[in-house]
Amino acid sequence: MMSSWSFKMNAEIPINMFRQFAFCPRVVFFRELKHINPVYPLWVEQGTEKHEKRNATLKKKLPKILRYLNGKLDVEVPVRSNFGFFGVLDGVIRTEEELIPIEFKSSTSKPGKSALLQLSAYAVCLEEMEGKEVKRSFLLYGDRVKVWEIHLSKDLRKMVRETYQNINEVMSTPILPYVATSPTKCVQCEYLNYCNDRNI
Ligand code: SF4
Repeated sequence: MMSSWSFKMNAEIPINMFRQFAFCPRVVFFRELKHINPVYPLWVEQGTEKHEKRNATLKKKLPKILRYLNGKLDVEVPVRSNFGFFGVLDGVIRTEEELIPIEFKSSTSKPGKSALLQLSAYAVCLEEMEGKEVKRSFLLYGDRVKVWEIHLSKDLRKMVRETYQNINEVMSTPILPYVATSPTKCVQCEYLNYCNDRNI
């Protein structure tokens, strides 16, 4: 079943903001409302050499996936939802029966909730644009390019919808949002100096 959303439309939101929000709502506040940009944002993956190695593996692996699915690949596909979020999807595999959004991540461990959320937001846009249900997406990650298959469940759709609403709230409220301290995130966060209520 495709989603039917009934909430009020708000601001236009780039989908990469979903990932920032999932890391910490304050990141959206600092970046988008206060326009504070750290030199090395966490979500920008570093390491050109690693990137090249991974891209070579990806070049070998993608044709195998396409052959297995009997599908064709479109890359860098712009997507947009009428509800107000948009972005550029790394790729879409088209088969006779399916549309499968794909994203490439260079993280060596299995990507977390933020990547899952971002890909699901792309998937929601894609099915709205194409008028066809998206059942699953692939996250291709790590140097060895592992494939993580994600089913676009009711819960994931709900998470996309709620995140969109929550981002809108942060964007329309000029007050630092309250978030619980997460030492594992805060110690590696470029905004720690701006969060003077963190006892870390
Ligand atoms: S330091 Fe912690 S609370 Fe502050 S923005 Fe970063 S992750 Fe969020």
